[in-house]
Amino acid sequence: MFTRIDCPPIRGGQLTIGYAAELAARFRSSSVHEFCSDFGINFRNLAQGCEEELQAFADLTNNDVDLLRRFSTIHQPDGTVRLGNALLTKHVMSRSTIRVCPDCVAEDISSNLSVSPDIAVIWRRDWVINSVDTCPIHSRPLSEIARISASNLQWDATLAWSDLSLELDALLASPVRREPHGLQAYSIARLEGHVEQVELLDGLPLYSAIAVCAKFGALSMNIEKHWRTLDENTRHNAYREGFEVLSRGSEGIAALIDRRMTALQLAGTPPPSIGPSTLLKQVSTFLNGTDESAYSLLRYLVANAVFDVLSIGPEDGPVLGVRCTYRRTYSIMAAARRFGLPEKTFALYAEAAGVAERNAHGSLRIDAPKADAYFGERWRLH
Ligand SMILES: [Zn+2]
Repeated sequence: MFTRIDCPPIRGGQLTIGYAAELAARFRSSSVHEFCSDFGINFRNLAQGCEEELQAFADLTNNDVDLLRRFSTIHQPDGTVRLGNALLTKHVMSRSTIRVCPDCVAEDISSNLSVSPDIAVIWRRDWVINSVDTCPIHSRPLSEIARISASNLQWDATLAWSDLSLELDALLASPVRREPHGLQAYSIARLEGHVEQVELLDGLPLYSAIAVCAKFGALSMNIEKHWRTLDENTRHNAYREGFEVLSRGSEGIAALIDRRMTALQLAGTPPPSIGPSTLLKQVSTFLNGTDESAYSLLRYLVANAVFDVLSIGPEDGPVLGVRCTYRRTYSIMAAARRFGLPEKTFALYAEAAGVAERNAHGSLRIDAPKADAYFGERWRLH
């Protein structure tokens, strides 16, 4: 025998713990913890997606347990969290802060005026993932509202909406509008279990896909600061840029590395000090810090893009664990040494012979296979 309460079912898109908080408000409990424990359910366990609590909560509220499970954060033994069909970590989730679209919240309230806001407002599942940061319906950045940071209140949205009216008016007055980035649609599709076609990301757990987009976005935007110190709009732009780079695969990566190289040269960075880590910044630290095989294709593509622009040959050490199989480019210094000519003389010959070209800002790019063929034959160096 189990108790069943008379309550409306969970609403579309609603997070299971948000639904629990809604019921706590309907039953006038002071907290969702109290509401659950009145029915013998441990809220903390429910919030962690324990099967036993989920089943008891489904029975109590007359909901399909599979539906509640799909909208629950299910803690895994390895510390990750399953949400829908995707794996997340606390680093890519908003757990102590509720992020909302002010327009969605206002619509929830105005379309349900017979109840209080803490019953009317839907805490949407997708809002807890950091890579979901813009409402696709209203083109609004998601805004942080109530903080629920005290650890014993974690995930308790019982009181989050009740005192919202002033804050909501200010948020609604903001003129800022923007479109969701590609990573947002990608993240939601992964949650829903749809098969995606972003080769470099599909093999990664969603939390890694989000992290790697952030790193590549930061590189693309030349952001040096730590992610946590960035403002919300900069993070949004970095996610967008990173996803665009990675969804274009090897071509996107090569274009990014090429652009980085040009920017460093334009900034006057002397060529000998441009190495892989200067070129790759946080991406280098990130990819060097993990030896997961899921990243091997990414490491391979990034390393090869580096070999295309830096003077690195098979005799040099690996980059991101990848060895250069053949040299694509020489620095002027390396080429002059190899062919036994003074740098200026080499540059003159090389340009005249068409084995080197100057880019728009005067840096010489020496094509290694062409230089080897031309100078090797002429100076019998092979
Ligand atoms: Zn909205």
